[in-house]
Formats: sequence, structure tokens, C-alpha cells
Amino acid sequence: MYHLKQIPSEVKIKKIVRRILFGTHLHCPRCKSRSVYKSENRYRCKKCRRPFSLTSNTWLSNMKLPWETFYTLLWCWLNHLPITQTIKITELSEVTIRNWLDNFRLNIPDPDWLSPLKDTIQMDEAFFRGKAVIAAKDTLAKKVILRVIPKQYVQKQNVSQFIVRHVEPGSKLFTDGAGYYRGIKNAWPVTHQRDIHSKWEFGLTSEIEGVFGNLRTFIRRKYHHVTGSKLENVVAEFEANFNHPEIFKNPHEYLKNSLFLVPTC
Ligand SMILES: [Zn+2]
Repeated sequence: MYHLKQIPSEVKIKKIVRRILFGTHLHCPRCKSRSVYKSENRYRCKKCRRPFSLTSNTWLSNMKLPWETFYTLLWCWLNHLPITQTIKITELSEVTIRNWLDNFRLNIPDPDWLSPLKDTIQMDEAFFRGKAVIAAKDTLAKKVILRVIPKQYVQKQNVSQFIVRHVEPGSKLFTDGAGYYRGIKNAWPVTHQRDIHSKWEFGLTSEIEGVFGNLRTFIRRKYHHVTGSKLENVVAEFEANFNHPEIFKNPHEYLKNSLFLVPTC
């Protein structure tokens, strides 16, 4: 593996992870007792006598990579490096890398944290891997919501369900002239204005079209290809990156937001 200057030493990384998971006092992840001692490469609890490691009871519990390799891989993912680059840097196999990137995506904190979009919203849909993606952008707050519809066409009910769930009443909605937006005001209290693309009117939906352009570039550059089954997951990653860039700033921030001890009984 190439050692990147941005990657801290193993000792430092373990300190970071320990701090995130245990704060200032190491304790048993099962019984919470602070009476723990080091035994070989692990810890052992004096109270319940069970051994544990730094990553027991977390989504990293099965991690077999050296810490520096893991951190480098995470750094590559956060910086949107193409898989081919990540292979060269980490010297891991493509399968191993793709599995880890799946893990990173699955552990992005709560994908449904976003409150509804409001004020001025642009909405549109596009097709990826035989699936439809409906997207809307709050052009003032610069927030986006994207939802994958697992079929090759969009129906009126998909569009109205999306609006009811994700658009605040009283908002201004801009769309293209597609038929399924007709009469949307009857489904939800919004003001609706349509661009008729055939008349060369693109102004009202240009921002949301830009979002789809960004999504296509994001998928092609970072993953090269994405199977239909992973699409939803990758779209969620894109959305989270767009709305909460602070979480993806560096490995430390990402781990701070995604790593925690899962309670056991
Ligand atoms: Zn214990």
C-alpha cells in the first residue's frame, strides 16, 4: 500500500476510534463496566469476563484490514476517487474495495433526516439502470431529495406521493411539461408552474437538471458502473453528500457521525 501523508499512524487512528466509541473512559461494550484490562491485542472485562476489541459491537467488528489501510480506503471514498485509483493506492482487490464502499454507504447516518423542501422547488425525473429517479431541489436552501422508483416509468401516483412526503404545503413548484404533473395542485396545496421544453423554455428547471448531470458524473467517475440493485444506495450517498458535506469532510468526521456501540442484551 502507498502511504499517503493525509493518513495518520495506526496508533493515532486507534486513538481516534477509541475516543469516538468510548469517550474518555474505556468500558466493556456489554455490561458498561469500567473495570477492563488489556490482554494481548484485546481487552477483557473483569465483571463479565468477556474479551472485546476496539471495534466489538460496531459495524467494524469484522474488519480484518490493518488500520492504516482501512483509513486510506475511507479517505479514498470520501474524496470520490475512482475505484481504479483506490486499487492502486491500497493494493486491495476490486471486490474487497467494492464491499467496503458498500459498507461505508450503508453506514451513512440516517438517510431520512431531511425535513421537507420548501419555498421554491424544482422537480424532475431521470432514468438510470432501468429505474426511475425522482428528484427535487429547494433552490434557496440548496437541498435535494432523490428517490429511486424501481420501474422504468413514472406514474402520476409516484409523483404525487413524492410531493406529499417531501414538499411543504404552500411551496412554489417548478416542473417540465410532463403529463403526470398535470393537476398536481389537486393532490397537494402548491403553486405549480410548468416549463414547456418543446418551446425552448428551460429556465424553470435548469437547476434540477444540473443535479441529474452531477449524479451521472458522480456515478461514472467514482464507481464506473453501478448495478441496478446498488443504485438506491449510491443515490442516497449522492444526496447525503449534497445536503451534508460536513459529514464527508474527512475520515474522522465520517467516523464521528457513523460509528457507535450497538447495545447488546
Ligand atoms: Zn463486561
